[in-house]
Amino acid sequence: MAHVVIIGGGFAGVWSAAGAALARADADLRITLISPHEHLVLRPRLYEPNPDLAKVALSRILQPIGVEHARASVSAIDTGARAVVAGGAKINYDRLVLAAGSELIRPSRLPGADRLFDIDTLDGALRLTDHLRDREQFSVVVVGAGFVGLEAATELAGSGRVLLVDESPVIGAQLGSGPRAVIEAALDQLGVARRLSTTVTEVGDGYAILSDGSRVEADAVVWSAGMKASALARHISGRLDHLGRVPVDQWLRALPEVFAAGDTAAAAFDTEHTVMQACQHATPMGKVAGYNAAADLLGKPLREFTPGPYVTCLDLGNAGAVFTRDWDRKVMASGSDGKEIKLRINQAIHPPVDNAETILAAADRVYIELPFFPRP
Ligand SMILES: Cc1cc2nc3c(=O)[nH]c(=O)nc-3n(C[C@H](O)[C@H](O)[C@H](O)COP(=O)(O)OP(=O)(O)OC[C@H]3O[C@@H](n4cnc5c(N)ncnc54)[C@H](O)[C@@H]3O)c2cc1C
Repeated sequence: MAHVVIIGGGFAGVWSAAGAALARADADLRITLISPHEHLVLRPRLYEPNPDLAKVALSRILQPIGVEHARASVSAIDTGARAVVAGGAKINYDRLVLAAGSELIRPSRLPGADRLFDIDTLDGALRLTDHLRDREQFSVVVVGAGFVGLEAATELAGSGRVLLVDESPVIGAQLGSGPRAVIEAALDQLGVARRLSTTVTEVGDGYAILSDGSRVEADAVVWSAGMKASALARHISGRLDHLGRVPVDQWLRALPEVFAAGDTAAAAFDTEHTVMQACQHATPMGKVAGYNAAADLLGKPLREFTPGPYVTCLDLGNAGAVFTRDWDRKVMASGSDGKEIKLRINQAIHPPVDNAETILAAADRVYIELPFFPRP
């Protein structure tokens, strides 16, 4: 029987599995998802005070739709032999979907790097909340004032003192100027101190040294200075983009037998932009890549990836949230209105579970215009 193999159990992998099951319908086709974890981790929720809620059992999604779960980590892909090595065993495929996601870029030569915390993975976020739990007052340094660092800093400011450090001269450099005034006002409101054009050069027991030579109190230093695609991308292509992602065409195909989705895939968003490493893109990409992997084997027409509108919603802790639309990130809602949208998004990203019909129907709806998004 022909075999679709999916590497990764994040948004892209799970939705690839559902997309492949949708295209399979009643045909004979084996679908296997390989991931070392038993959960889909909802990474966008890892800044929340109880990160353990940010997960969904893979079995509740995969079992109803007849997808096998191989609990292992892939160490190699041999595209010539159409096989992957997972947990030491060889698994052959007819079509492969690479959806192994991304990971935090960690500093390689920082003294005290082993003391850093992060909210990149469920284990990382749990370690941070355990470390700070039950402290009356704490001081935290957050390194990186991008999407993740801002959410970490503003959430932690609800219960401790926060210093936000970034080597850029502006807050939220990657977010552009659109939402900056709202973000800065929120940081002021929450008392988050900032040190820009600066980084951390050493981490010690209860302190951090900054590149301006100052020593600051730090019960924890949270590193959130950028993400890079899984190193498996290099097994598929020698032409990776600046985020380490595999180039794919409009059907999300990287090689004749290999598709890629989510944070490992550089798909065109429009003529100027590639997709973001974001679950709002990983989800529809997964639905399309998985569908196409199965459809290609079954002789069905493939689906094109044509992204919906680009939005962002950044949580700002007790100062609400800021919701933006399009690539200039025009602010559409902020404060409590923005927070209302963020809370709804954080629920909406939970995939349906336990019911094949609902899961497959969701896989068929590639782009969801959420009714609570304000229109321009
Ligand atoms: C704190 C935080 C906040 C975020 N906020 C937002 C937000 O507000 N909005 C938004 O759109 N995005 C947000 N993101 C980004 C979003 O989480 C990612 O873009 C999304 O998770 C990408 O999904 P993915 O499936 O491609 O990859 P991942 O979520 O990285 O999943 C990859 C999967 O592959 C598995 N895997 C990795 N290597 C292997 C291997 N060798 N073998 C087998 N399996 C492997 C992993 O275990 C995991 O299951 C946030 C991320 C973080 C960390």
